[in-house]
Amino acid sequence: MAIINEHYFELKENYLFAEIAHRVAAFAEKHPDKKIIKMGIGDVTLPLSDCVVDAMAKAVKEMGKKETFRGYGPEQGYDFVQKAIANYYAQFGVGLSVTEFFISDGAKSDCGNLTDIFDDANVVLIPNPVYPVYLDTNLMRGRKIVYMAGTPENGFLPMPDPKQHADIIYLCSPNNPTGAVYTKEQLKIWVDYALKNDAVILFDAAYECFITDDKIPHSIFEVDGAKKCAIELCSLSKTAGFTGTRCGYTIVPHDLVRKTKDGRELGLNKMWLRRQTTKFNGVAYIIQRGAEAVFSKEGMEQCKKNIAYYQENAKIIMKALDKCGIKYFGGVHSPYIWLQCPNGMKSWEFFDYLLNNLAVVGTPGAGFGTQGEGYFRLTAFGSKENTQEGMSRFTAAFGK
Ligand SMILES: *Cc1c(COP(=O)(O)O)cnc(C)c1O
Repeated sequence: MAIINEHYFELKENYLFAEIAHRVAAFAEKHPDKKIIKMGIGDVTLPLSDCVVDAMAKAVKEMGKKETFRGYGPEQGYDFVQKAIANYYAQFGVGLSVTEFFISDGAKSDCGNLTDIFDDANVVLIPNPVYPVYLDTNLMRGRKIVYMAGTPENGFLPMPDPKQHADIIYLCSPNNPTGAVYTKEQLKIWVDYALKNDAVILFDAAYECFITDDKIPHSIFEVDGAKKCAIELCSLSKTAGFTGTRCGYTIVPHDLVRKTKDGRELGLNKMWLRRQTTKFNGVAYIIQRGAEAVFSKEGMEQCKKNIAYYQENAKIIMKALDKCGIKYFGGVHSPYIWLQCPNGMKSWEFFDYLLNNLAVVGTPGAGFGTQGEGYFRLTAFGSKENTQEGMSRFTAAFGK
């Protein structure tokens, strides 16, 4: 008899976005005349940059000629992409060797796949509210999870509790869903805590390209000691609009070494290489040429232009919320604005209020964890016109 993984029973039905879609569809059917403004989108909307498209088109042509055709590539990515990303990190003063970069089909898969190289007896520390992937991938393994609360008092940036032991720690900065961002000093406290506990930090930097202040670290490896206790996940999804194209990368430093229960030591870089070469056959050559182009001078300029467009939307949202006297977090180094529902409303109550009265759609904070109750996520990924219209409906309804 094939016995199934019983831990799948511990997963909660992922109804958040399905429920939103359901309520929006019902409203649209009842009010076909109303223009619905969608501000809950967690996906980019601007197309790929020209130079990325050109690089991929060129690679397609190469694949169609005998002389330039390529079959299986290196599982960990072509060195031309590894080098391009290593150079990008050098700008932040982070010196990493190309063999510390692993190119993949995205940060979500890497996040789930990384559970492979750790024992299931580990205690996992996860923020609440949180990107649901961290939680569900560990629940699937039956691991013990300890939550750390994001609250308005800590700015939705939980810090370590010295009395709480943890083995694996998930941090996401700039954060999805709250838009909050850790300073270098705060990350140093996390690194020191991880070193003290022999823990490993899994640092999700998917939104690093939204950082506007030079003092805020783009990478955890800007912090001293992090190479001995952290793995970083990043993606071209938000940086360059690759959500549908699929390319990300994970950094596993050579200095990161941990032990088995019985004390045998192994480098995590070597383990991840073994894992990837066994279970993954690399990202398409065509996509990797596109990824290389993202990190070219021209590519970076074009991507920054798109990011600036979203940042402008975030400003429109923040300005309107200021006018309404609605408290919020994020928005500055992030496409996400995490607001406190006005008049003491609960997350879903506010969702219904916005939909039914303003025909504006956002994401209820309660969908990201218990600590998200009473909060609401708006995103800057829409068009400028729609963002302006959505927020003028806000100011008309809540403006003081
Ligand atoms: C969008 C996002 C990612 C990127 O995932 P991909 O699989 O690379 O598209 C990673 N982490 C968080 C928190 C995200 O919101």
